[in-house]
Amino acid sequence: MLNPTRLSLRMQWPEAFYQRVLSRLGLEAASFFTVLDTEPVTAVNLHPLKFNAPMTLAEIPWNPYGRILSERPAFFLDPWWHAGAYYPQESGSQLLAAVLEQLPVPEEPIMLDLCAAPGGKSVLISNFLQGRGALLSNEVIRKRVPVLYENLARNGFANNAISNLDPKELGNCTELFDLIFVDAPCSGEGMFRKHAQASEQWSPDLVEFCALRQQRILSDIWPALKPGGFLVYSTCTLNETENEDNLRFLLQQADAEAVDLKFPTSWNIEPGTAPTACWYSWPHKTGSEGFFLGIVQKRASGDKGILEKPISLAKINLPQQWLSESAPPPHVRHKEQPALMNAALASLLPSLGTAQHGIQHAGTPLGEWIGNKFKPAPELALSLHLRADCSLPLNLSQAVAFLCGDGVLPEAETQGWYPLSYEGLGLGWINHLGKRSNNAWPRAWRIRQRPSGGVPVPFWQP
Ligand code: SAM
Repeated sequence: MLNPTRLSLRMQWPEAFYQRVLSRLGLEAASFFTVLDTEPVTAVNLHPLKFNAPMTLAEIPWNPYGRILSERPAFFLDPWWHAGAYYPQESGSQLLAAVLEQLPVPEEPIMLDLCAAPGGKSVLISNFLQGRGALLSNEVIRKRVPVLYENLARNGFANNAISNLDPKELGNCTELFDLIFVDAPCSGEGMFRKHAQASEQWSPDLVEFCALRQQRILSDIWPALKPGGFLVYSTCTLNETENEDNLRFLLQQADAEAVDLKFPTSWNIEPGTAPTACWYSWPHKTGSEGFFLGIVQKRASGDKGILEKPISLAKINLPQQWLSESAPPPHVRHKEQPALMNAALASLLPSLGTAQHGIQHAGTPLGEWIGNKFKPAPELALSLHLRADCSLPLNLSQAVAFLCGDGVLPEAETQGWYPLSYEGLGLGWINHLGKRSNNAWPRAWRIRQRPSGGVPVPFWQP
């Protein structure tokens, strides 16, 4: 649908951007600008273990869990979203799923998502790992950490930690990661359709500024990549300066080689300019927002060993009644709540050395002892290691009421803490007091705008 508030295709984009696209795309430029003038497409990435409803929505060819929606629903009113059953993510970014499928990484890889907030790529990576290996999701801007944490807590795996560090500090963790994702801050040309302010803020100077910042980020983090490891570089912008040129910079400056992948031609993913192997999802070709991605591999020098550090986290005893048999053993970090961590994450943390001070969250918190009573953590209800048969089921209106912070009172045999579930997915906790209950869904995660006109219909139902 053409946007009637935009009158002239020629006038609405910054002139320098318009001219560059024209010279790059030639005759295709007209369809590019026409698509930029339509409403953005809404897409979701389904959780491979949590989403369990039959549906017939259009698939995204490069991600078996990607779906296209016909309109944008109010996700924040949907208990399935709160329970981590899916993550709204534009389709081009989901190309990362096809990259992960093709890269030859170890069975238990140690991965870093360097520029991670709000967490779309981390959720996708975490869904790929499904609890294998470890994923450190880093965000340098502190106030963006809570949303990142919220999204990963919903995902429910115990192999994830979150840090708030400058890339340089993580770069000191020499040769630690098998795979590093740099989804770099960029000039955002690929977001012009979705966010009007992206084109208002754009300028040729911004492109130059971003390119230099990206080079600094790449140089800073490069030492942290293991020999033989892969660095996946992506942006949501469409210019060579921030994209191909930065991959060339890496190939010239570092001991690296480009990694070529194969995507079916029917996907319409376009190669970038030579000599590096890299790809674009152009809006007029794929329907997505603009997205760029390239991969380099660090040559195996063979002379530096991979740092193996002993696990130094203390194991402790905790109430086990809520944990499934698959749950990894709980660990405690200094001054932190006990948390479920798989072995790879538990050994990654000490390997970070001095960068450990930037860790904000690690694993799935279990809760805390208050006197002789254990208060479970909200994240445990969202965990995939919660025992399936210990929760009290809610219907849709009860689930929405709970997510709004109301006291709900499902039937329970005894008083005490209970996890609640909706459609079999763990949601949050109540302390059942017999005639009333205390709602322990975190204030910051609550639905703030109550649904008007009843509870929402799930978007996948026809
Ligand atoms: N990967 C995220 C996702 O999929 O949801 C989006 C990342 S966004 C494109 C880029 C991120 O880089 C932002 O969260 C931003 O705060 C962060 N950032 C900004 N400046 C940075 C810097 N100098 N070093 C590292 N990250 C930076």
